[in-house]
Amino acid sequence: MKMLLDGQWIDRDKKIDVIDPYDNSVIDTVPCGSNEDARTALSCVAAAFEITKKMSVYDRAQILYKTAQIINDRLEEFATIIAREGSKTINEARKEASRCGNTLIVAAEESKRILGETIPFDSFPGGEKRRGYYYRFPIGVVLAITPFNDPLNLVAHKLGPAVAAGNAVILKPATVTPLSAIKLVEAMVEAGLPPQAIQLITGYGSDIGDVLVSDERVRMISFTGGVEAGKHIAGKAGIKKIGMELGSDSPVIVWKDADLDLAVESCVSGSFWAAGQNCIGVQRLLIHEDIYDEFKEKFVAQTKQYKIGDKLKDDTDMGPMITEKEAERVEKWVKEAADKGATVLTGGGRKGALMEPTVLENVPADATIHCEEVFGPTVNLYRINDLDEAIAEANALPYGLLAAVFTSNVDVAFKAAYDLDCGGVMINDSTDYRLDSMPFGGVKYSGLGREGLKFSLQEMTEPKVICFNLPKM
Ligand code: NAP
Repeated sequence: MKMLLDGQWIDRDKKIDVIDPYDNSVIDTVPCGSNEDARTALSCVAAAFEITKKMSVYDRAQILYKTAQIINDRLEEFATIIAREGSKTINEARKEASRCGNTLIVAAEESKRILGETIPFDSFPGGEKRRGYYYRFPIGVVLAITPFNDPLNLVAHKLGPAVAAGNAVILKPATVTPLSAIKLVEAMVEAGLPPQAIQLITGYGSDIGDVLVSDERVRMISFTGGVEAGKHIAGKAGIKKIGMELGSDSPVIVWKDADLDLAVESCVSGSFWAAGQNCIGVQRLLIHEDIYDEFKEKFVAQTKQYKIGDKLKDDTDMGPMITEKEAERVEKWVKEAADKGATVLTGGGRKGALMEPTVLENVPADATIHCEEVFGPTVNLYRINDLDEAIAEANALPYGLLAAVFTSNVDVAFKAAYDLDCGGVMINDSTDYRLDSMPFGGVKYSGLGREGLKFSLQEMTEPKVICFNLPKM
């Protein structure tokens, strides 16, 4: 597949293989974009913004509706690409493709609600004869950098609101999963987006990132990825807006009065969705001691039922990790925890990129798997007996994306909701619940700003004040 620069789909002699991590087959290739290509993308953006800022809201919305329609009409094609280039099973991929259609429709709807308001200039002496208002103006050029784990919908979470707002975009998708992003851009162009309005560059972030990120023509970086790349980008960005959707270590409190079956089912799925490569995937389960043994027994039993293997088979529950190297890392972290005294209740094994769904208990506080984002199919169980201590434990790590609590006691739910330090608290759901239109983002190392169409549109637009001085009034 090709990249899109200056309105042309182009290839390069130097290519990157896109590999299916299940069987290591090469699915396709993409051009290995260079710094020169990055400069070409940047040199086109001023002209691109001249096009996009003049497009009417109607036209922008129609492009997004039509793109959603294309995706919905070819759902299986999009799902197959997601499943092949990434970790998701075909069922997980179908859900992502269908969510992507919804993301674009909501972006289209929100484009009609980019509102301003009148300003009471006469609220301070001297302003009696002034009248005015503000409206929200597109920010300009948005640089969208996306991760591998939701290779379609997380791209839509940037392109959808950027187009809805009237911005020009440079997109740099994850190098291991660029195909879904390219298909999405193709669909947008098919739906009527002027090809000059979007620059799509494939290539290694470590090579071409600095040129893109540090350029002054970029007015906003919308980044989703890991903390390390996030820190690097923030250090290079200079004076521009930065939206950061980073990692987490999602804690879930299971209180003694919880509906256990609901909690177990929801947390098993939340732990192992996309082979645990999910920014809101359950990592730490803090379980009340009164129900700990029963919860553990049911949780481990359900985990053992998981069928891992071929992503394209309808009855596969979990696919491989994104690369064998990543699976090796997780296996190593499990071994390190076990060496330090943790008990592996199930899993821990690995074959190639396929890491078994793994459940641990008695994990010591100095184990990497306790203190770092795992981003793999493992979950730690902890015994708790006091709500304040559980909340303190949940808040103890430097992340704060989503947290969750299972309880039938409204007081427990409210206390947890207020005291958990994060961007959102799910009550009687695991952390792995997200509606694409809700404000989504985190505190601490989990990020800066919020996504979720309406909120992304706020981030990707700026208020512009218009004031009429009317001395003859
Ligand atoms: P990553 O390694 O940080 O990469 C993310 C993106 O950043 C990729 O496109 C990558 O390009 C690019 N990149 C890396 N270094 C760069 C640089 N110096 N300059 C510019 N771009 C650079 O993350 P990942 O492994 O793809 O994704 C996993 C992480 O994303 C996890 O930490 C996860 O929690 C987080 N995540 C967060 C959310 C959220 O909404 N909060 C959602 C999903 C994932 P290359 O691919 O070429 O390296």
